[in-house]
Amino acid sequence: MHIVFAASECSPWAKSGGVADVVSALPRALAKLGHRVSVFLPYYRQVAKAVPNPPVVLHSITIPFPGYNRFVRILDGGVKGGVQTYFIDCAELFDRENFYGTPSGDYPDNAERFGLLCRSVIEVSKMLGVPDVFHVHNWQAAMLPVMLRSIYYFDPVLRNVPAVLTVHNAGYQGWFPSQTIEKLLLPWDLYTVEKLEHYDKVDFLKGGIVYADAITTVSRKYAEELQTSEFGNGLEGVFRQRSGDLLGITNGIDSDEWNPATDSHIAAHYTAENLSGKKECRRDLLHAYGLENVGDDTAVIGVVSRFATQKGSDFIVEIMDRLAQEDMVLVILGSGEEYYERLLVEMAERHPAKVRVKVKFDNVMAHKIEAGADIFLMPSRYEPGGLNQLYSLKYGTIPVVRATGGLDDTIEEQPNGGGNGFKFWGYSAGAFFDALKRALETFRNKQEWTQMMRRGMAQDFSWDKPASEYLRLYERVIQNRS
Ligand code: ADP
Repeated sequence: MHIVFAASECSPWAKSGGVADVVSALPRALAKLGHRVSVFLPYYRQVAKAVPNPPVVLHSITIPFPGYNRFVRILDGGVKGGVQTYFIDCAELFDRENFYGTPSGDYPDNAERFGLLCRSVIEVSKMLGVPDVFHVHNWQAAMLPVMLRSIYYFDPVLRNVPAVLTVHNAGYQGWFPSQTIEKLLLPWDLYTVEKLEHYDKVDFLKGGIVYADAITTVSRKYAEELQTSEFGNGLEGVFRQRSGDLLGITNGIDSDEWNPATDSHIAAHYTAENLSGKKECRRDLLHAYGLENVGDDTAVIGVVSRFATQKGSDFIVEIMDRLAQEDMVLVILGSGEEYYERLLVEMAERHPAKVRVKVKFDNVMAHKIEAGADIFLMPSRYEPGGLNQLYSLKYGTIPVVRATGGLDDTIEEQPNGGGNGFKFWGYSAGAFFDALKRALETFRNKQEWTQMMRRGMAQDFSWDKPASEYLRLYERVIQNRS
């Protein structure tokens, strides 16, 4: 089978969140099963820095806009793990400081930027090989199925090609003014509430949900949650309408990248059988945060997160003063909303011996925290899949999570440390603190704690099973169109 992925992020070139990890690892798992997979990604400035002057595959394809054309080059990102990557080069749109915008807001031409991504992938596929199925990710690629089923409707080679959309987070939908319809040369009859319109805006994600042959999301629980007003972000009705074609597939983790036995970013390697290297990683992490004098009995709590209300950054701020009374140190890595960046830095200044914050995106430090911490916090308000709790399990770092989405699916708390982590259900900092207290108490019982670590480390989070589930879905949508 030939599968074409279109996305706005892919590790290691362009990553701001979990979607990048999935778009990198799932294609490799599919290739391992013998399938041909191509991934298309914008040639952002950051990608150009990592891969300067890659070979040119196509020198110029024409992408029309009203009254003008853009000319796109297709660059060869190489073959890795059996997966061919292509970069879409349009310097006017992608040669910028960031992927989506500046701290003061999104780039004003994001509809054009990601509309161009979708149309380029369709056009290029016609030249380099029409796939059996397109697999598109998030709102940035969600217009691909819309275009396929509207402006490319009569194209004989694309007519029967299905598209699968994966929603990694319905909190980001890509809302644009109604004129975007004209900007992308789409027919105005798409601009209705049954199709792309959402409260007087064009909603890219909604379009994708309506027009994709199947929709997936990254955990079973989130697939259910999306159909409720609490989590659907206004699209619950559309998700409910497509519930027969909506499937939750829990992410795997990329064991080439996240494996304490081989990880090149950490101070020492370790396994479930021989945990001694984790002590070295703990020392290394504490050193990186300037906390050298912390003893073995003090719990090291880690956070790696986008700072946002979605991630429960406010819960972390709220419990900080109480937490600082406990025998622990808290090391935080993250970036995101300025408001939380400031609050967390303030907290660290208030408790300098106990709380340290690094405000940045730093993949190496993320690995050091997963390896060196004892406990990992994810008090998310909602969490479609969540990868960090899976990395934590794999690294023997016990997660404390809110029971939502993928966190609820993957973390189980049982009395006397019988599960693989700790979780809370309420929507309050108090419930979070209680769960964390349970973790800290269990931490004191070294035998129970070690058993719990080993239980998590032994779990299978490989991509093999999710990749087979995606394949079955691709087969189904291909069958339905033939
Ligand atoms: P989301 O995609 O909603 O941000 P996920 O848990 O699915 O959340 O994935 C987040 C990914 O981004 C993980 O791989 C995590 O390690 C990484 N990450 C988040 N913030 C940072 C940071 N400040 N530095 C390095 N990696 C980060």
